[in-house]
Amino acid sequence: MMNLVIFGAPGCGKGTQSERLIERFGLHHISTGELLRDHIARGTELGKIADGYISKGHLIPDDLMIRVLAHELEEKQDKTANGVIFDGFPRTIPQAIALEKLLDEHNAGIHAVVGLEVDEDELVKRMIQRGLESGRADDNIDTIKERLNVYHQRTAPLRDYYKKQGKYVPIDGNGSVEDIFKTIEDALNKQS
Ligand code: ATP
Ligand code: MG
Repeated sequence: MMNLVIFGAPGCGKGTQSERLIERFGLHHISTGELLRDHIARGTELGKIADGYISKGHLIPDDLMIRVLAHELEEKQDKTANGVIFDGFPRTIPQAIALEKLLDEHNAGIHAVVGLEVDEDELVKRMIQRGLESGRADDNIDTIKERLNVYHQRTAPLRDYYKKQGKYVPIDGNGSVEDIFKTIEDALNKQS
């Protein structure tokens, strides 16, 4: 069993690399961003609440987000035997503590935190492009700037948090999707 966190700034390629990692290692993918966007598209109660935060580039409050994640883990129990790749969670220290507790209840833990490190101007370029191609509502310049602010204030401290635990695996996330995937694969093989 291998539980991974894929970590990094908005637009760093978490979703893209997760798709490859689930194939390579037989993991179950939990993307909190996708989960919330699905709720928004279906117009659920959670979707209505989430939309208010996401459209401003803000984070969903920790207590709500942690409940959503716990529910998702519970519901997908039969699919997570090989491990999970957590994409977009944790985004704050309280979320990281909650995740540890949840995994601990199943005698499991986090194997590694794959940190995709990408230059800021490249991040902005990618998100603008994705906004044009996908119509994703939060991929517009004002919201992107706010998401980057929030990332630096609330999410980036998790790097040190996981470094101290010896779990942080830095990956150069600039370059081609294939090259980045190879770097991740090599780094994980070395880690285990
Ligand atoms: P990437 O492009 O690397 O996949 P992203 O930051 O562009 O990442 P998502 O991870 O899809 O996008 O998240 C979109 C939005 O959903 C966030 O900006 C935030 O508002 C909300 N969200 C997702 N995960 C969380 C979380 N763990 N805590 C709080 N809010 C979250
Ligand atoms: Mg994503």
